[in-house]
Amino acid sequence: VGRCRGSPERGGWINASLCAGAARVRQAGQRTWRLVLLGPPGSGKGTQAALLAEHLGACPLSTGAVFRAAQSLPVRDQSPALQEALAHMRRGELVPDETVMCLVRERLACLRCSGGFLLDGCPRTLAQAVSLDRLLAEQRMTLDAVLRYELPIGEIVLRLSGRRTCGACGAIFHVTARPPRRPDLCDQCGGRLAQRDDDRADAIRARMDAYRAATAPLLDYYERRRVLLRVSGLGDPEEICARARQALRTK
Ligand code: AMP
Repeated sequence: VGRCRGSPERGGWINASLCAGAARVRQAGQRTWRLVLLGPPGSGKGTQAALLAEHLGACPLSTGAVFRAAQSLPVRDQSPALQEALAHMRRGELVPDETVMCLVRERLACLRCSGGFLLDGCPRTLAQAVSLDRLLAEQRMTLDAVLRYELPIGEIVLRLSGRRTCGACGAIFHVTARPPRRPDLCDQCGGRLAQRDDDRADAIRARMDAYRAATAPLLDYYERRRVLLRVSGLGDPEEICARARQALRTK
């Protein structure tokens, strides 16, 4: 059993857990995977992280989920750095590298999880990738692979504008592709579903621009290190997951 408590260390500036991972069942002899999931907003990384977590027994860690969880903290509990980060997020911009990496460093317990990790949404820039490598090297760990999910822009817009997220547990639904059983209510916990501020049209455009500008050098970096694996993000989630697992067999 891989057990990642994901507990924030004392003095951490966000009191929400980065790691969605409760204990995960791992089969004997199962390989430990330390992976980064890359892809534009709407490419289904979050859903894929959850599916891969089930199949590989690794813990999904999402920086975007932490920022969203931190949004519901009372303002008095939000440090100035966190308030600044959330303002960037609401405008659809990237949060500054130092702030993001400070957050990841606070969650070292998640990265050291015995089942491995699936880092979703980080790194987003070359500086974050270098900083992540340094952090992993300090812990005597290396990245096994970077899964890059690819999708045409028209499909991305359709997906994002229909996406609904549970405010309580973070589960993701879609108005047509994955509707909840009861309108606007989460199938898993009964929480209310809402559209994320950054899934609205103006923020989607800003996020796509920010994504392209920031990740181009990151892709080169991982390509040169021969860890980049391309995965088509078209099709249903299980199909995409099977494609990713097939790609991992080459590693
Ligand atoms: P996501 O759920 O990964 O799309 O992230 C939602 C938002 O959180 C992004 O649009 C950014 O504002 C912020 N964010 C999450 N991860 C990062 C990161 N690694 N670097 C910069 N900003 C991030």
